[in-house]
Amino acid sequence: MKEGLTHFLFPRKCPGCGIVLPAGELVCSECANEFTLIKEPTCLLCGRAIEFGSGELCYTCTNSDRSNDFGISIFFYDDLMRKAMSDLKFHGQTDNTDYFAAMAVSRAGSRIRKFNPCALIPVPVHKTRLMERGYNQAEIISAKIGEMLGIPVISDLLIRARKTDYQKNLGRQMRRRNLFGAFSYNKEKYPGSKIETELARVMLVDDIYTTGSTMESCARMLKEAGVSEIGLLSIAIGAGN
Ligand SMILES: [Zn+2]
Ligand SMILES: [Zn+2]
Repeated sequence: MKEGLTHFLFPRKCPGCGIVLPAGELVCSECANEFTLIKEPTCLLCGRAIEFGSGELCYTCTNSDRSNDFGISIFFYDDLMRKAMSDLKFHGQTDNTDYFAAMAVSRAGSRIRKFNPCALIPVPVHKTRLMERGYNQAEIISAKIGEMLGIPVISDLLIRARKTDYQKNLGRQMRRRNLFGAFSYNKEKYPGSKIETELARVMLVDDIYTTGSTMESCARMLKEAGVSEIGLLSIAIGAGN
């Protein structure tokens, strides 16, 4: 009843084409086929699709520092996904996270369960950005996945210490420079001893993975904080170069 009323007042739109969906549906049947899922073989560290027989890592991971142990991504970051992500991040279409979280669980749920993380850690946004936008999309996605898989979400461990330029506007070198010192962690609430015993394995969650500089900055900070194993989960990932 409550769900019916919510649907009536705030009908859910398809994350792809924007048509109003029947109650209970997260994507229209046409867009369900248009969003491109990531298929094996994938890069061990970021989850990007790679060519058969090209080794374990993508070009970017081969040539970059990586502090995480493995990475999973769900969708290819093509034009349709770019639009769905932009609607989520800049136009308040937070309903899109239901589709993203449901697909993450259906595609990667068993691997995440097997890894058995102590917590999901969303990549944080800076507090002024949070105030402008009103939410952190990575946190909403984490909360939904965490609820479905029974894994706690910790959003106050990593801190975005510095407001950074939007990564999408920067080249690779500048992205790295832009992120220098961007993240820290809450040492008071999570001292090393607590992290080593209670947060030995965590899964970092973000909406979009391009060069991996943001995730790597967070992973490095988590390692420094005392986390021993880190998995990455991104909803969408670029082609890499
Ligand atoms: Zn659609
Ligand atoms: Zn990779």
